[in-house]
Amino acid sequence: MDKLLVFSGTQPSGKLTIGNYIGAIRHWIVMQKYYECMYCIADLHLISTVSSSNVYAFRKMSLDTLALYLACGVDPNVSTIFMQSHVPEHTQLNWLLNCCAYYGELSRMTQFKEKSKFKQDSVNVGLFNYPILMAADILLYQTNFVPVGDDQKQHLEFTCNIARRFNNKFGTVFTIPKILVPDFGSRIMSLLNPLKKMSKSDQDSNNYISLLDDATLISKKVKRAITDSDQPPAIYYDPVEKPGVSNLLAILSGIGGESISNLELIFKNKTYSCLKSNLIQSLSTVLKQIQNRYFNERSNENKLNNILCVGAKKARQKANLTLKKVYQLIGL
Ligand code: ATP
Ligand code: MG
Repeated sequence: MDKLLVFSGTQPSGKLTIGNYIGAIRHWIVMQKYYECMYCIADLHLISTVSSSNVYAFRKMSLDTLALYLACGVDPNVSTIFMQSHVPEHTQLNWLLNCCAYYGELSRMTQFKEKSKFKQDSVNVGLFNYPILMAADILLYQTNFVPVGDDQKQHLEFTCNIARRFNNKFGTVFTIPKILVPDFGSRIMSLLNPLKKMSKSDQDSNNYISLLDDATLISKKVKRAITDSDQPPAIYYDPVEKPGVSNLLAILSGIGGESISNLELIFKNKTYSCLKSNLIQSLSTVLKQIQNRYFNERSNENKLNNILCVGAKKARQKANLTLKKVYQLIGL
């Protein structure tokens, strides 16, 4: 029997953060063992948010992202890794899905509202249409599971809705994917503002820890992270009442693998600085291993380009099967 299919991806908008790792990539690694996995580098999504048209920077950021995937444990011999722009079927299906999407439902997307907040008239339509391209990414591969962070839940619900709508209108072609958002670690928050999601494109790098931050930087950032002024200090998981402390617990659990409830026992009656020291230690150790592998992989551009070439070929073959059926059903 064919394996069930997993699809996921990230935008190469900067160095991946521990939020991306804990919320998504560490689950990708496990899923490779059981499913057929397609992991995409979403460079077409990226151009909806960046103003620069520096081709060199784009390529570099994409290869950096690929090397980070490999360093985290994505195995190109098992999973298909590819660039979104290398598979033109994504944009072809995007147009067809455009014609099934409603302006009203896209206007309600939280990510669009947040990312366009300060731009008003200059916000591009690509950013507005982002969820439709994302739906095309997923539906092209007859995806069964999409492991993502909590912030992508709304886009995934939209993907399922548009797939059902298309199936009802033209005939069943798309598999309706299942959204996999883990109970813990699916929303790692900013270090200086634990009410805001950690994002790699954040203008203030003190808000996030990149997978490539060294031990000194990790220590500086974690020490500055917001906790609270409870007296005596209390370490337990309650994202509403104690967002800062809960975020540090979620990061420690996501990186070290210890459950949150165990961590609550370990840090009962301990100080915040004790929690932070442990977190610094744990992050420095795990990220150092990722970084060693990263610099090794990143230095071999031939290997990276080859992985993308093979990945695009495999992805196109699959994507084409779906796109052909869609064209036939519409009558094109
Ligand atoms: P950007 O600021 O460019 O949007 P990002 O950090 O939000 O960057 P994405 O490329 O948009 O990263 O998302 C990649 C994956 O990481 C998605 O599955 C997303 O849900 C997940 N993710 C992003 N941020 C977090 C976070 N703070 N906590 C957990 N998961 C996250
Ligand atoms: Mg994002």
